Amino acid sequence: MAELNVKKYQRRAARKKKDLVKFMRKVGKSTKRGILKTVAEVDKEVWKEVACLDCANCCKKMTPTYTRKDVNRIAAHFKMTYKEFYHKWLKTDTNKDIINKKTPCQFLGKDNKCTIYSIRPSDCAGFPHFTRKDFRYQAQEKTIVNNISYCPASLVFIEKLQARIEDDL
Ligand code: SF4
Ligand code: SF4
Repeated sequence: MAELNVKKYQRRAARKKKDLVKFMRKVGKSTKRGILKTVAEVDKEVWKEVACLDCANCCKKMTPTYTRKDVNRIAAHFKMTYKEFYHKWLKTDTNKDIINKKTPCQFLGKDNKCTIYSIRPSDCAGFPHFTRKDFRYQAQEKTIVNNISYCPASLVFIEKLQARIEDDL
């Protein structure tokens, strides 16, 4: 495992954030056809370049949002009730989202591996959410661009998308 230099990506993200926010806003408003197809292609390219097991920064510095179904599933795995599991590990934030009490995530194991991988929260399974059907809405809401300070893949994704489509928007 070659640890990713997350700080290097963070510096690049800080330098480029304003420009990338502007670009993603443009993407969100664009009515151009074929954007989702390009997004799917760029998504594949990103994962050839960034390996999450060399990073795990989202598990170290961010928290997933848990659905009630997630909590029930993971609690059952540990033979705990919803309440027991919630009080041990979780809290509710000001947006009424159920999140981890602490970072790094309590389920992050050795070698950057998730110890509950097959039953992890759906938010973790979908993160960093590049290929959602509501991509334009997410672009307008700045969801992906807000993650670039933490997530190298999100930065690389937006850079690659920008290189591919900015002139055609
Ligand atoms: S549940 Fe697993 S994938 Fe999700 S944040 Fe925790 S360690 Fe990471
Ligand atoms: S999703 Fe992003 S922050 Fe999480 S491990 Fe992969 S590259 Fe790192």
